[in-house]
Amino acid sequence: MRLERFARSAVLLSVLVVVIGLAVSTAVAQTLAHGQRSAAEDQLKQRSALVAEAVSTETMRYVDALRITAAAATVEPLTAARFAQVAEPLREMGLAGATSLGFQVAVSDDQVISVQETWRSRGAADLTFSPVGTGRPHIFSVFSVPLDGGPPAVVGTDTSQIPAPLEAMTQARETDQVTVSDAYQLLRDPGMRAHRQQLAFILTAPIFEHSDNGDRGDFVGWVLMGLRSQDFIGATLERVAQDLVDVTLLAQNFNDELVTVATQRAQTQGVRDLRYNIDITVAQRRWRLDIEAAGGALPGVNTGFPVAAALSGAVLSLLLAGLVYVLATGRSRAQIQVREATSQLRKTEAAARRQADLLEAVMVSISEGVSVIGSNGGVLLHNPAAKRILGVGDTVSDPRAWHTHFGIYRPDGATPFPVEEQPLVRALDGEPSDNVEMVIRNASHPSGVRIEVSGRPLDPKARQHGAVAVFRDVTVQRAQEAELAAFAGVVAHDLRTPLAVVAGYAEFMTEVIESESIDPEDLHTALDNITIGVQRMRDLIQNLLAYATARDAPLDPAAIDLGPIAAEVISTHTARLRGTCPDLVPAVTLEPMPKVLADPTMVRQLLDNLVGNAVKYTELARPAEVEISARPDRPGWIRVEVSDRGVGIPAGQHRAIFSGFHRAHSGQQYSGTGLGLAICQRIVDRHGGVIGAVDNPGGGSRFSFTLPVADRVMAVTG
Ligand code: ADP
Repeated sequence: MRLERFARSAVLLSVLVVVIGLAVSTAVAQTLAHGQRSAAEDQLKQRSALVAEAVSTETMRYVDALRITAAAATVEPLTAARFAQVAEPLREMGLAGATSLGFQVAVSDDQVISVQETWRSRGAADLTFSPVGTGRPHIFSVFSVPLDGGPPAVVGTDTSQIPAPLEAMTQARETDQVTVSDAYQLLRDPGMRAHRQQLAFILTAPIFEHSDNGDRGDFVGWVLMGLRSQDFIGATLERVAQDLVDVTLLAQNFNDELVTVATQRAQTQGVRDLRYNIDITVAQRRWRLDIEAAGGALPGVNTGFPVAAALSGAVLSLLLAGLVYVLATGRSRAQIQVREATSQLRKTEAAARRQADLLEAVMVSISEGVSVIGSNGGVLLHNPAAKRILGVGDTVSDPRAWHTHFGIYRPDGATPFPVEEQPLVRALDGEPSDNVEMVIRNASHPSGVRIEVSGRPLDPKARQHGAVAVFRDVTVQRAQEAELAAFAGVVAHDLRTPLAVVAGYAEFMTEVIESESIDPEDLHTALDNITIGVQRMRDLIQNLLAYATARDAPLDPAAIDLGPIAAEVISTHTARLRGTCPDLVPAVTLEPMPKVLADPTMVRQLLDNLVGNAVKYTELARPAEVEISARPDRPGWIRVEVSDRGVGIPAGQHRAIFSGFHRAHSGQQYSGTGLGLAICQRIVDRHGGVIGAVDNPGGGSRFSFTLPVADRVMAVTG
C-alpha cells in the first residue's frame, strides 16, 4: 500500500516536472521562434529594400537613357538618319528587354497628308499613315529602330487606339517627363507562343522643339522605348533576389489595377511564410514589389531551431521526470527496504525472544536442575530447579570453591567430592559423564540432598566454550529403593515363618498318617496351625496390597460423613468378637463425627486399622474400651482421635510404630504384620494431614489424625 502511494506521488511529481518542462520548453521555443521570425522579417525588409533599390536604379537607367535620347533628338531637326543616330547609343547599351526605339507624332485629321509628306521628306520615304477613326488626333509611328536585333517595326500605324501607350504619351507630353505606360500585350507578340508571351510597356519621353531662350518649344512628338517586362527587369530581380526570395513586380495601371510585370521565384523550398511589399516610383508610376520568402531559408534564420529547442526541452523534461521518478521511487523503495528489513529484524527478534521464553519456560517447568557455566567456571545459567536442589546462590565462580560453597560430598555423605571428578569440571575439559551421584549438604539442606549429575561440554554451535550439567534430586528415590530392599527382606522373612509352620505341620501330618497311629487331636492341632500359618500369609499379602494401594492408588476425594463409616467399622469388629468371644465385645463410644473431604475407601481403611489395633492391643481377657471423637484442628482441618485403654505403646516407639513392619508388641499374643500403621501413615500423608500416637492419660494409647473438612463451618463449630 505504501509503495503504491509512493509510486503515485512519484508519478504525480514526474508529471508535474514534465508539464513544467514542456511549458518552459514551449515558452522558450515560442520566444526563439518569435526572435527568429523578427530576424527573418528584418532580413526580408532589408532584402526588400535592396530589391527596391536595385529595381529603382535599373529603371532609372532606362529612364535616363530615354531622356538623354529625347534631348539628343531635339538638338537638330529630326530626320530618319538623325533618329537612327540617336538610337545607336541605346542599342549599344544593350538594355535588357528593350525591343525598339520609336518616334511618334500626333496628327489631326486634316494634317495627315501634310505631316506624312513632311516626314517622308525627312527620310521616311515609305511612310504611309494609316489613320483609324476621326475626330481625335491620330498618333502615327514615324521612325522605328529595333534594339533587340529583331526586324524593324511597321511604321505609319495609328496607335491612338491603344489606350496604354496613349495615356502614357499624353501624361508625358503634359508633364514633359519620361512616363511609363500601363503594362499591355505587345502588338507584335500575339503570334508568339503562350509561354513566351509577356507583358510589355513603353517608356515615352516628349520632344519639344529646341529654343535658344531655354523655353519649351513646340511639341514635336514622342520617343518611345518598347520594353518586355520580364526581360527588362527579370535579370535585375534574379540578381537581387539571390535565389532566396520570391519577387513579384506589379505595376499600377491608370485604373488602379495591379498587373504583374515580372516575377522571380527562388529555388528554395518551403512555405512562403514571410511577406513584404514595397512601393517604388518608376517614371511617374507607382509600382509595387511583393517579396515573399520561406523564413527558414533566409541565411542566419533557422526556423527549425525553436522546434529543436522545444523538442530538446521536451526530451530533457522527460529525462528529468524519469530521473525524478527514479529518485522519488528509489528513495521510497529504499525506505520500504529499510522497513522490510526492520520488520524482518523484529520478526527475528520476536522469534528469538519466543525461543528464549520457551527455553526459560522449559527451564522453569522441568524438575531437573540445569546449570551452565562458562569457560572460566562462572555460572551462566541456573534454572529454578537447580537453585532449589542446590539450596544456595551461585555467587562462587571458581570450581575449587564449589565444595565449600554448595557442600558437595561423595555418596557416603561425608567425603568431600574431589573437584577434578565433578561432572562440570570434567565437561569443561571436554569429558562427558553420566549419572554421577553425590550429596549436597549445606545450610539449606542440613540433612543432605542426594543428587545424580550428568555433565556435557557445551555444543560448539552455542559459540561459547563451557559446560552444562543436568541433575536431579534422587533422595526420595534412593529412600524408596532402600525401603523396597528392606521391605523385600522383611516380606521374605515374614512369609518364611508361616511357610515354615505350614511346611512343618504338613510334614508332621504326613508322618502321622504313615505311622498309622493316627491321633485325630494331633491332626486337628496340625491343621489348625496350618490354617493359622495360611491366614498369616493371607493377612500379610492383603496388608502388602493395602500398603501398595495406599501409596499408588489414585486419590478420589469426596465430601463424606465420618460418622456412618466409623459406626460400620465398629460394628464389624464388635460383631466378629460377639460371635467368637462374647465376653470380649469392646465398649466403643462414638462421638459425633464431621464431614471430611477425603477418599472414602482409604478413610475406611484408616479407621479400620486404628479401631482394629485399639481392640487388639488390650490386656488379655479384658474387653477393649474405645472412644472415637473429633475436634477442630488448624483452620479447615479436623482432628479425629481413637483412644483406648489397652496395653499402651512402649516408650520411645510412638513414632517408629508408623514405619513398615515395625512391631512394638511381638509374640504370639498379638498377631500382626506391622504394616497397619504404615498404611495409616500413607493414607493421612496423601490427604495432607498428620498422624501420631501418644499415651492416653489414665492408660492406653491415643492415636490421632487430621483430615480436611468438607464444610468449614462444621470444622469450626466442631
Ligand atoms: P500390627 O500388625 O503389628 O498390628 P501395626 O502397624 O498395626 O501392626 O502396629 C504396629 C505396632 O504398633 C503393633 O505391633 C503394636 O506394637 C503397636 N500398636 C498398634 N496399635 C496399638 C495400640 N492401640 N496400643 C498399643 N500398641 C499398639
